[in-house]
Amino acid sequence: MNYQNYALGKWVAGDGEGTPLYNSITGEEIGRAGSKGLDFGDMLIYARNIGAPPLRKMTFQQRGLMLKALALHLHSIKDKFYPLSYATGATRLDSWIDIEGGIGNLFANASLRRQFPDLPFYVDGEAAKLSKQGSFIGHHIMVPKNGAAVHINAFNFPVWGMLEKIAVNFMAGMPAIVKPATLTCYLTHLMVQEIIASNILPEGALQLICGSANGILDHITCEDVVTFTGSASTGKMLKAHPNIVEEAVPFNMEADSLNACILGKDAVPGTDEFDIFIKEVLKEMTIKAGQKCTAVRRIIVPENLVEEVQTALSQKLKKTTIGDPQIEGVRMGALAGKSQVEEVTEKVEELASSQHIVFGDIENFEVTGADKNKGAFISPILFLNDKPFEKTDCHNIEAFGPVSTIIPYNKMDEAVELSRLGKGSLVCSIVTSDDSLAREFVVGAASMHGRILVLNKDCAKESTGHGSPMPLLTHGGPGRAGGGEEMGGKRGILHYLQRTAIQGHPTTITALTSQYQYGGKQKESSPHIFRKHFEEIEIGETVTTDSHLVTLENIEDFAELSGDKFYAHMDESALEGTIFTERVAHGYYIMSRAAGLFVDPPKGPVLLNYGIDECRFTKPVYPGMTIAVRFTAKEKIDQEKKSEDDIAKGIVKFLVDVYDDEGETVMLGTILTMIKKKDQS
Ligand code: NAP
Repeated sequence: MNYQNYALGKWVAGDGEGTPLYNSITGEEIGRAGSKGLDFGDMLIYARNIGAPPLRKMTFQQRGLMLKALALHLHSIKDKFYPLSYATGATRLDSWIDIEGGIGNLFANASLRRQFPDLPFYVDGEAAKLSKQGSFIGHHIMVPKNGAAVHINAFNFPVWGMLEKIAVNFMAGMPAIVKPATLTCYLTHLMVQEIIASNILPEGALQLICGSANGILDHITCEDVVTFTGSASTGKMLKAHPNIVEEAVPFNMEADSLNACILGKDAVPGTDEFDIFIKEVLKEMTIKAGQKCTAVRRIIVPENLVEEVQTALSQKLKKTTIGDPQIEGVRMGALAGKSQVEEVTEKVEELASSQHIVFGDIENFEVTGADKNKGAFISPILFLNDKPFEKTDCHNIEAFGPVSTIIPYNKMDEAVELSRLGKGSLVCSIVTSDDSLAREFVVGAASMHGRILVLNKDCAKESTGHGSPMPLLTHGGPGRAGGGEEMGGKRGILHYLQRTAIQGHPTTITALTSQYQYGGKQKESSPHIFRKHFEEIEIGETVTTDSHLVTLENIEDFAELSGDKFYAHMDESALEGTIFTERVAHGYYIMSRAAGLFVDPPKGPVLLNYGIDECRFTKPVYPGMTIAVRFTAKEKIDQEKKSEDDIAKGIVKFLVDVYDDEGETVMLGTILTMIKKKDQS
């Protein structure tokens, strides 16, 4: 089988024979992949000219729905990917992480649409008042970069590695060219075939290079984004490419990392935490046969517990059956290829020059259901390093397989220091039930780690584990880990957008952002805005209400009703030393009374009010003052129908500006309403 590339909207084979690809369990050749003859420059132009425009035009809501449709489709056919995944050496669980974890990432990103405006670009943060009178303000918008995202990936997660990245660039409105590692590109190829065949993405949104992508960076320009996951040496070489430097192309690098797991002093044998620690480390050594960027490479334990940890881990590793993952009882599959066995063996030998193996033998181990010499099998290897501050190889050499080192520590500051000797890692965990120990470790070690997990019996059951990067959390790490950041929910999407400061009159900034800006022109709504359907409401439309005289009786009635009898509302004699000169009205009374002023009661298109985004009481209101409200449509977000018989509706955010007789704002808030659409189809 020739695993073709998908370029310029067509499946094309590379010229020549291509690189042979092997089943890592049987050693048989399963096909070839090559990219010779592909014009990477044309692929990038195609992505920018054909793929980018429709994506850029879509709103975040539309992109989210597109991703959701893709996720639902891939989920419905997920079983198609498992048989081929076994060829990468993955067990059922490993494949589940790769395939369903990847699809889960699409779902998670699709849901993020609710955190974005109903626009093709993002309005970032709050407006900045830049003038005394308020006629000149600043704001920030973030628009999709007008280029392509080039994703260069490692071999270990051929599906997840692609999906976790394209989910994010599609949400941002950019097309992608994906380059999986050649070694396992056949699985990515199958996934891309299904994605293209589904016709869910616009033309040009996704292209695939199965063979080498050597030379692609020669064609990168300043509006493109490059992400890299792989070895530090390749990453550094690519990051230093003249185009990346000269064109200031964002380059997100996720590289090798010597992740650690720390056992707290309190977690002695017999405690739940000791068992949790052993289970977690075992999982991290053997899942994906240790070929996980987040796998635990350094097991940092109190020096008086070294022997117990070594014994417990060795016993568990002994019971880890290695072999063909399709055979019942096999717990660890193979590495992704013979080349990886050679590489890991070499690294084990290097490590063995400064520390000794306490479990495992690179030559002698048993394999179930497969030929040990044909498949890419390897034994788990557990090292012990008795002088980790002197023998530092374990902090520098990454064996990308089931290889880990036990490292003793004395005091917590030593554990912190040892974890930092990895010079930057993706993730670190500490197993302890002592939160003050956890705090000491986390605060001391955080600057060298992208993520820190604190595990104990209270969270272990539901914990997603040391090794799983979560779509809503940042994935990446400083230093050796590449200094990159992926995913992270909304944060990840922002990486593909250009932030631009915009300045002008609030009315202009309202027009640019489609969000009403305080001080901008208001248009009196006629009829009352509660009589209007979602489609009919314009940003800036305002209801200016009647006024209400606040009385002492109001304050007392509200205190009675709410039960809030705080002294500042109730006790005139207690005001000395406070900022109040009289008994002050409750802020929540002002809010409630404001609703009484702006609400138009009869049944109409407004379905409900579901909350307040922000609310500030900016000036005390005393009995005798009057209040009135300017109630302005601030932002509109379209909503999809959840089912055929669902009510067609949208969200409208209203700015509630309550002001006093001097025209000064006493309360400013944003309320969230759901409003029916006129068109219910
Ligand atoms: P690699 O050899 O560095 O390759 C990574 C990717 O770079 C592959 O797709 C490779 O393509 C491509 N590549 C190599 N030279 C290139 C060039 N000149 N131009 C464009 N692309 C080029 O890494 P690997 O062996 O696949 O992955 C294992 C390593 O990745 C481990 O060290 C592991 O720690 C790291 N990793 C890190 C993370 C993370 O999130 N931090 C995740 C997974 C893995 P070819 O396959 O065609 O050479």
